[in-house]
Amino acid sequence: MIQFENVSKQYPDGTTALRQVNLNINKGELFVMIGPSGCGKTTMLKMINRLIERTDGTVRINERPIDEYNIHELRWNIGYVLQQIALFPHMTIAENIAVVPELRKWKSDQIKERVHTLLDMVGLHGDTYSERKPSELSGGQQQRIGVLRALAADPEIVLMDEPFSALDPMSREKLQDDILDIQRQMKKTIVFVTHDIQEAMKLGDRICIMKDGQVLQVGTPEELIRQP
Ligand code: ADP
Ligand code: ADP
Repeated sequence: MIQFENVSKQYPDGTTALRQVNLNINKGELFVMIGPSGCGKTTMLKMINRLIERTDGTVRINERPIDEYNIHELRWNIGYVLQQIALFPHMTIAENIAVVPELRKWKSDQIKERVHTLLDMVGLHGDTYSERKPSELSGGQQQRIGVLRALAADPEIVLMDEPFSALDPMSREKLQDDILDIQRQMKKTIVFVTHDIQEAMKLGDRICIMKDGQVLQVGTPEELIRQP
């Protein structure tokens, strides 16, 4: 579903972040990218929603080169979860989750229902939580809202850049379980960046190991254990 063909990236200062990367990410899989800091994970992730432009090669989504999409159309179909919790502090939880559906002019009844469904899915019941402000929630709960916001308009793809690395171990485990639940129920294509091998093995349908701007190996957790 997402294809990288000979993709390279050189930053203006001369840093080569990716060298001729080829990769296929399948529809509906939870695809984890792992590797040491600076190996190019974030660069690859941000190319998918064109926050970063590549210098060479082609990225395709559903067979179509991403440059052929209208950029808004492309981004509306791609949820994005950042490491830092990035909720709007002046908005309620419901309003935060509804940002993209609002932009897409969903009907207000439909938005309300969607917000409640999502909150219920992670056990933050809508009646209790939807009218609170982010500051009234714990860090783990806020990040859960960040995940729901990315899912709100039902995108096909969700990009997650070390979404749980700032959380305490308990919240982290809870969020990982949520992601597995979400994946089971919604069958999203999720591209998940982490530098935590345990997290990668727990979550990944397949794992991509990167080093120095290149893909070293791609496989299921079982395959990677068999041939380390
Ligand atoms: P990772 O996510 O694996 O830590 P990045 O994709 O952030 O790796 O970075 C890959 C390489 O590109 C690193 O060497 C990093 O220093 C460099 N890099 C990232 N962003 C920029 C930038 N805006 N300008 C110059 N070099 C950058
Ligand atoms: P950031 O804090 O990096 O600006 P956003 O607040 O823009 O992130 O992201 C919130 C949600 O909005 C994400 O799920 C993202 O996919 C979506 N999004 C980002 N850019 C756009 C856009 N131009 N139009 C619609 N939705 C967007």
